Amino acid sequence: MVKPKIGIFGLTGCSGEQIVILNCEDELLDIAGAVDIRVFHTATSDNDEEGPLDIAFVEGSVVKPEEVDLLKKIRKRSKLLVAIGTCATWGGIPAMHNELARDELCKAVYGGNGDCFETIPPQPLRTFVKVDYAISGCPMEKEDFLRAIPMLLHGDLPLLPNYAVCTECKMRENECLLVTRGQLCLGPLTQAGCNARCPSYGVACCGCRGPVDEANVASEVKILEEKGFTLVDIHNALRTFAAPAQALQAELGRGKNE
Ligand code: SF4
Ligand code: SF4
Repeated sequence: MVKPKIGIFGLTGCSGEQIVILNCEDELLDIAGAVDIRVFHTATSDNDEEGPLDIAFVEGSVVKPEEVDLLKKIRKRSKLLVAIGTCATWGGIPAMHNELARDELCKAVYGGNGDCFETIPPQPLRTFVKVDYAISGCPMEKEDFLRAIPMLLHGDLPLLPNYAVCTECKMRENECLLVTRGQLCLGPLTQAGCNARCPSYGVACCGCRGPVDEANVASEVKILEEKGFTLVDIHNALRTFAAPAQALQAELGRGKNE
């Protein structure tokens, strides 16, 4: 039987999703037995850079012109393209300061030594190619990946939670950090799926899974302002993981002019 061919690629990011995959220690042999892994740069130097793929999993945001070309090439050779992680899905941390000029940013980070870097404002994959499915998270949850593989191979698109982190937080009966303790928690805007990991340890959600569908950003901003946070505090939090997301753009644009 011919096994489905998959590729696991990394653009600009921390390789967190590839590490999550490598850390699937109990399941890795089963995965390797069920699919033909043709590309996995972090795991092997024996990669097929040209042949067709059934599924390409792509991590990282698009930060360099050559990554645009690579991504388009991956798209062309793959039946399904799956964004893995928040950088690939929403732009992630590399995109947090897209409102600043690239040369200004480069100078702030590298001083006079940054001229050799040719970069573009970081963007999620869907800015450049069609993305068939996305597993967000910084890094993605191992369970989301393991659930997705068999379903994608059978032609289904797995359902991810279409509700906010607050729902999971309430199900765990946590005290609300926003309402009770006045912390800047982005749980109301953030896609669930982590089982409210941070608030369950008493740490406010910083939105690492990206915005939930129909995120009510204006309402969250109003509540946070009532709690005493400035627009700068709020915008810094909102732009940390998903600045290019349409749901946040209007609010971040408003901040620029104030
Ligand atoms: S602590 Fe945060 S995630 Fe939990 S209910 Fe309150 S706002 Fe939502
Ligand atoms: S609670 Fe928020 S910041 Fe923490 S893992 Fe979940 S989505 Fe990410």
